[in-house]
Amino acid sequence: MSEFDWLVVGAGLTGATLAERIASQLGQSVLVVDRRPHIAGNVYDELDGDGIRVHRYGAHIFHTSSERVWSYLSRFTTWVGYEHRVLASVGGRLVPLPFNLNTLDMLFPAPDAAHLTGLLVNTFGESSRVPVLKLIDHPTPELSELGRFVYDQVFLNYTAKQWGRRPEELDPSVTGRVPVLVSRDDRYFRDKHQALPAEGYTTMVARMLDHPLITVATSTDYAAAASSVKHRRVVYTGPIDEYFSGVYGPLPYRSLRFEHERLPTGPHQPVSVVNYPNEHDYTRILEHRHFAGGSSWAGASTITREYPDEYRPGDNEPFYPLPAEASHQAYRRYADLRDETEPDTVFAGRLAKYRYLDMDQAVNLALQAFDRRICCAVPA
Ligand SMILES: Cc1cc2nc3c(=O)[nH]c(=O)nc-3n(C[C@H](O)[C@H](O)[C@H](O)COP(=O)(O)OP(=O)(O)OC[C@H]3O[C@@H](n4cnc5c(N)ncnc54)[C@H](O)[C@@H]3O)c2cc1C
Repeated sequence: MSEFDWLVVGAGLTGATLAERIASQLGQSVLVVDRRPHIAGNVYDELDGDGIRVHRYGAHIFHTSSERVWSYLSRFTTWVGYEHRVLASVGGRLVPLPFNLNTLDMLFPAPDAAHLTGLLVNTFGESSRVPVLKLIDHPTPELSELGRFVYDQVFLNYTAKQWGRRPEELDPSVTGRVPVLVSRDDRYFRDKHQALPAEGYTTMVARMLDHPLITVATSTDYAAAASSVKHRRVVYTGPIDEYFSGVYGPLPYRSLRFEHERLPTGPHQPVSVVNYPNEHDYTRILEHRHFAGGSSWAGASTITREYPDEYRPGDNEPFYPLPAEASHQAYRRYADLRDETEPDTVFAGRLAKYRYLDMDQAVNLALQAFDRRICCAVPA
């Protein structure tokens, strides 16, 4: 039976960060297993037959304001600057998202747009970010109507498709996060660093795992590895409910189905991501070639339609924890069980924490878990 100091379950960004830190900083051996046939978890990308880098699990745009995360990942990749811009199909037009002053100009007659712009700037100030519910509740009738318009045209049906539930069944924060931007800055993110790894996420993760003390086994489940490999400690980045054999029932997740299509010519759309709040069963289309820069090209293109789906354990992937009070309570029961029974196992990442994490948050939390739970933990 082979022997390792650590068994890391999951070769996504969280597992790769922790494995890299343990091997390079502590000089301890690590076996990283993933049940999928590839490394990198949800950030997995690969070149298709046309040489187009395809994000197999949906558009992944790296953005961070954390210098620690930026400098850590920059050891494993160089970057290509990329500022994400999203369009939404509303009223037969493609308009910028999040809803901003340019969106207003495109959807309203010029005199109305100018009037509303003046009202927004005078009421909230240039460059402010106004939650849509605040706008709906505003005493000025025109602002309240604008809020209702944004809610109905951009948010309501998209949310119903995305979650398979009405907004009142979800955390109020889901609606509360929808902003109207009093600005003409069409960028989707505002972080200091916005970029894509020059040779893709999979290459970056492969470099993180490329250490003499790290062994990687894909298509390998935790249960199989745990019974066949000796190890002292475990880092677990899989679903926490599965770890405890679902004793309190399954945690609710939303899944996605990705439909990839090769088009003989492109571009299919002007930007990488177009949202469809009100039409179709899919929520958005991603056109991968935009990530390589330039908006006009000759030759083939690959697009991906993203269909939200119920999560069926064993059949599809758990992508998004359901943002609802009942799910948070269900997670707390598992977290209490973890604290009582598994003090030595390190639970980390989006599935073990039952929390949506952007990539930079996943890496940041993994670095913190290393500092606090593995490297420098002070004995009680
Ligand atoms: C559609 C979509 C779009 C996204 N877009 C962005 C974006 O634009 N920008 C951004 O910053 N973030 C984005 N994210 C978030 C990003 O995907 C996550 O931050 C990141 O994947 C978290 O990494 P992780 O290692 O925690 O989880 P994962 O990548 O899910 O890795 C966990 C791994 O554990 C494996 N595993 C689970 N259980 C077991 C088991 N029992 N045995 C063996 N292996 C197991 C899984 O197969 C998986 O590969 C997006 C997420 C989704 C779903």
